[in-house]
Amino acid sequence: MFNIVIFGAPGSGKGTQSDLIESKYHLKHISTGELLRSEIERDSEEGRIANNLISKGNLVPDDLIIGLLKKKIESSPSRTGYIFDGFPRTVAQAEALDKMLSERGEKVNVLLDLEVNEKILIERLLNRGKTSGRSDDNLDTIKKRLQIYHEVTMPVMDYYKKTDRYREVCNNTTVAGCFEHVVEILDSIHR
Ligand code: AMP
Repeated sequence: MFNIVIFGAPGSGKGTQSDLIESKYHLKHISTGELLRSEIERDSEEGRIANNLISKGNLVPDDLIIGLLKKKIESSPSRTGYIFDGFPRTVAQAEALDKMLSERGEKVNVLLDLEVNEKILIERLLNRGKTSGRSDDNLDTIKKRLQIYHEVTMPVMDYYKKTDRYREVCNNTTVAGCFEHVVEILDSIHR
């Protein structure tokens, strides 16, 4: 089993790189943003709580997202491992993920941090907003999401650095260029 956390600010390309990793390494891609959007679509209780928070650019509560992720892993077993995209976004979530995986005799093998400069992030998200239909791809919400990323999510990096599972990837250029670097890193640790 090989489990990856794909990490980075909103607009850093986590979804795109996750899809590429999924098809090359046959790992299961789980995006917590997608999980939440499908709960909103189903109009479930979790979806109703999440809807308001997401459209304002806030995070949903840890226990809600940890519960949803647990259910998702149980309902979609993988024999190879997972790519966690958009999770963990807080240190409490990082601890919960380690606990969840260690109960299964597994762990997060590596965190890939997609580093992109802020000007490019904002451009990409505004551009995505033209077609994504997402309530949170507008300038005010983007700024709020970036602020939360800096204040609440970035400490997750240190959590993984301490246990030597952190790797930085630059994603200021092309999708292919970034993926090449991702492959280099994964091939050096994925045996
Ligand atoms: P994403 O699709 O990853 O950009 O996520 C969209 C939104 O869903 C985020 O801005 C948060 O409001 C919410 N969200 C997704 N994943 C998490 C998480 N792990 N913890 C809290 N909120 C989350």
